[in-house]
Amino acid sequence: MSTRRYPYSSVSPEEFHKWLSTLICVLNSVYFVLNMITLQKLGLGTMQLAVATFAGFCLYKSSNGLYRPWHSYVLLISLTTNILLSIAVMELVAGATYWGLALPFWYYSLFGLRKGFIFSAIIVLSAAMVIFFRTDTQVFMPYRTIFNFTLVYCSIWLVCHIYEVQRQKTSAALHSLALQDDLTNLKNRHALKADFSAIYKHFQSIHMLMIDIDHFKSINDKYGHDIGDSVLTEVADLLTQSIQVKEIYRLGGEEFVCLLKDISDENAYKIAEKVRHSIEQKIFLSHNTPIQVTVSIGISSLQKEHEFTDFLRSADQKLYQAKREGRNQICC
Ligand code: GH3
Ligand code: MG
Ligand code: MG
Repeated sequence: MSTRRYPYSSVSPEEFHKWLSTLICVLNSVYFVLNMITLQKLGLGTMQLAVATFAGFCLYKSSNGLYRPWHSYVLLISLTTNILLSIAVMELVAGATYWGLALPFWYYSLFGLRKGFIFSAIIVLSAAMVIFFRTDTQVFMPYRTIFNFTLVYCSIWLVCHIYEVQRQKTSAALHSLALQDDLTNLKNRHALKADFSAIYKHFQSIHMLMIDIDHFKSINDKYGHDIGDSVLTEVADLLTQSIQVKEIYRLGGEEFVCLLKDISDENAYKIAEKVRHSIEQKIFLSHNTPIQVTVSIGISSLQKEHEFTDFLRSADQKLYQAKREGRNQICC
């Protein structure tokens, strides 16, 4: 069974983590060589070697599809500690503080809005404190350095925050565009596939109702496309009211699908009958002229050997049996 993921718009944390691991591995290897050989900073160099090794491990794991979220946490905690340590032990003029300015971007990209905000806040305080405690070595300078560092850091932090808020809004909008039917506001065919993959893993029994409006073309021909559209919207509302589950989809045209989890064949039939009856009883209007609308329904229950397409095809076959046998009825 293939698992299909929702089509998110931006780079996934896994992908970002992979590139960040590469960058951290390369940078820390360079700094390790510099600190050990040129500057003889053994403690810092050893730490950088450890971070470079862990980043290499993260790169290997994510390249082989074995990414785990804890990798990102450990990677960024060790990188942050490394940067804070560099600010603490190196001369301020060496400029290790500049590396702190990159942290908000990495936090927001890997951990999202809330954790990005919290980590960025913790780091600005820690970095400012580290610089402050070095007052004795750089009289007067640290206050101006803290002031400038904090202002620049906060500006970058603010930009990252605004960017992440916008990114999440855009992502949510694209997500609903990709998965929602514009006319009825029901979920669409892509969402059906994605939901099925998720539901399949957790439920033993699934029933699919495939619901098709009878002679819908003649409604369009007789009353116009706009009235056809409003019939589709009203049918969608009736489905939502009668079935009361979230898994209702417009498959396309005048076809709808509903997934029912963990219920008996008998109850699936009862729900289908409720739907059929409620649509038959509903008075649809076109400029005060009543329109009779009926639906045919095919019910399929998920079998062990079913892939998604088999399940759909089986409901479709039952639907066409209901059509052949005279419409306005249910076949299972
Ligand atoms: P049957 O009982 O066999 O299902 O017949 P039918 O007329 O319902 O089915 P058919 O497949 O012949 O026609 C479906 C019609 O649905 C044709 C198409 O113009 C119309 N349709 C598809 N999408 C939309 C839509 O978004 N809005 C409107 N108004 N009509 C649509
Ligand atoms: Mg039809
Ligand atoms: Mg049809």
